[in-house]
Amino acid sequence: MCWGEARVRTQYTRLWLATILFVAFNCFPAASEILPPVAGRAPRILIVYPYDERIVATTVAGEALRSRLIEATNSRIDLFSEFLDLSRFPETEHAKRMGEYLARKYEARRPDVVVALGKEAAIFITANRDAIAPGAKIVAAGFGSSTAEKIGLPQEVIGAFSTFDILKTAEMARRLQPDARHLYIIGGSADFDRGWLASARAALGEFAARYDTTYLEDLTIDEFVDRSAHVPRDSIILMLTIFKDRTGRNFIPREAVRQIAATASAPIYGPYQTYVDYGVVGGNTVTFDSLGQTVADLVLNAIAGRPGQDVDAPQTYFADARQLQRWGLSLQNLPAGTIIMHQKMSLWQEHWLVVTATFGVVTMQATVIAILLLERRRRRAAESRARIHLLEAVHLNQSATAGALSSSIAHELNQPLSAIRNNAEAASELLRGRSPDLQLIQQILVDIQEDDKRASDIIGRMRGLLKKRSDIDWQEFDLNDVTWSAIQIIHGEAERRGVTLKATEAADKLMVRADKVHVQQVVLNLAANAMDAMSEVARVRKTLTFITGVSNDRAALCVADTGTGIPEDCLPSIFEPFYTTKQAGTGLGLSIARAIVETYGGAISAYNLPEGGAIFRIDLPLVKRQEEPE
Ligand code: ADP
Repeated sequence: MCWGEARVRTQYTRLWLATILFVAFNCFPAASEILPPVAGRAPRILIVYPYDERIVATTVAGEALRSRLIEATNSRIDLFSEFLDLSRFPETEHAKRMGEYLARKYEARRPDVVVALGKEAAIFITANRDAIAPGAKIVAAGFGSSTAEKIGLPQEVIGAFSTFDILKTAEMARRLQPDARHLYIIGGSADFDRGWLASARAALGEFAARYDTTYLEDLTIDEFVDRSAHVPRDSIILMLTIFKDRTGRNFIPREAVRQIAATASAPIYGPYQTYVDYGVVGGNTVTFDSLGQTVADLVLNAIAGRPGQDVDAPQTYFADARQLQRWGLSLQNLPAGTIIMHQKMSLWQEHWLVVTATFGVVTMQATVIAILLLERRRRRAAESRARIHLLEAVHLNQSATAGALSSSIAHELNQPLSAIRNNAEAASELLRGRSPDLQLIQQILVDIQEDDKRASDIIGRMRGLLKKRSDIDWQEFDLNDVTWSAIQIIHGEAERRGVTLKATEAADKLMVRADKVHVQQVVLNLAANAMDAMSEVARVRKTLTFITGVSNDRAALCVADTGTGIPEDCLPSIFEPFYTTKQAGTGLGLSIARAIVETYGGAISAYNLPEGGAIFRIDLPLVKRQEEPE
């Protein structure tokens, strides 16, 4: 068996866990088991590595072994390591010297158990056991049981066998490449490499017969690279090991694999996990960590004095997803249970929980947004309907006001028109004279112009009252102006009814934002009601007062009368639609007034005055003035 190099990879964790479980439930001691001290001291374990420390496969297995031992004994164990370096120093003399050296070295600290990681280490320790560790138990690992037989491993040596089954690797290749017609098997020129080639020939006999099979051996590294680069595309390449090429140049096998795989014209497979990142598609193997774990449990058994027996380290298929993609090989054709490395998981596979949660949240948000949008649409439709109804109601209210005021307005209009007629007659009389007084005539014409303007203003106000509006005409205006124009409209009617009008205007402008005509309508409604309430009162006391000002940062208008006042129990009801105490009343004036004021963010209220009469007050938000520079 050969140790290629290995790296501990997270992908192997699954296998590692599976191995732990296998080990834990299959007759090995529990991890927490406290070992009986050997002659009152911690047990001594010597791990013998066949090569040097660069051969990562052995160090990975060795590390797995050490960690498990330390954990199981709560660190009450003495661990020693020796690297024989037999790949670079294959001479018998070297092995002999190492034997003598280690015999001396461990004279005072004889190991209780020796672990030989690999065939060469097993041969070495079997030969030197009496000198280095007399009476110690030996655990050998890292090669197959057939090799154990071949090297004549003594019965008492316990084996953790790892069978690197090249046939299984070949069968995996056939599943992935069912149409392949050529088979190439690559092996180097070191003894170990040749041993591998011989086992492969025996193992692949029947399998190889189905293909046009070529063994690439006795070649230099360049020849390996060149031959592999020119194999037909429908070939399977099986990579054994190249510890040495024909020229005797030493290699770490995976480095040789890297060179060959870089330009190979067909997929390469190999029986070592260490080949994964160096260009092989996959294979069947015993992973080095699982081997280390298996060996550790054998060692624990040996120290505890339990009878040991040979075990097989678990085998597994492995594949490199990147290479499968490179060669267009399907994941579906992999043997069941294959560990797939470097597989790019889809967003769903990798983050399914986050994706599901995000999807859920987004869906919820979308639903909430949809509901809110629908709600907003409904609200807007309702608002629009309410606005249309308000506009219609206000228009009807305005028409009613115009109707009620029509006789006074006609009367009022009559005044400027009569004045115009009289002035016109007077002017023509003057012109018929011999020497007409032109200055006087000019004065008369000025009067006519003024009267015409008065008439035109009256008509303009009337038109404003009757105009139907399709939407709110938002504008900023001074509440004083609107109050004044309302007074203008009703002053004729007030006169007719013997009501004295008084107005107290705020010194400052009271800028509000609303539809001017609507606010004017509110003032007219309040004024009309006030005049109605004073109809029974003695003429001398009939006073209608308008006061504007600022209250609580809002524009305020009060309309006070000297009428009957509002019965206290009716105060809460007067703004309700259809509440009226008048024979010909509709009970809509105040409810429309409230709807208008509230539309513009304001409020309306009513009180009785202590001295008699009622007072109505409206408040509207003041338009915020821009800060004036100092
Ligand atoms: P209408 O004028 O058609 O009755 P309104 O909604 O304008 O409808 O008024 C509702 C009721 O409120 C009136 O019928 C009246 O009883 C009472 N009212 C309104 N203004 C005054 C006021 N200034 N003084 C006394 N009562 C008032």
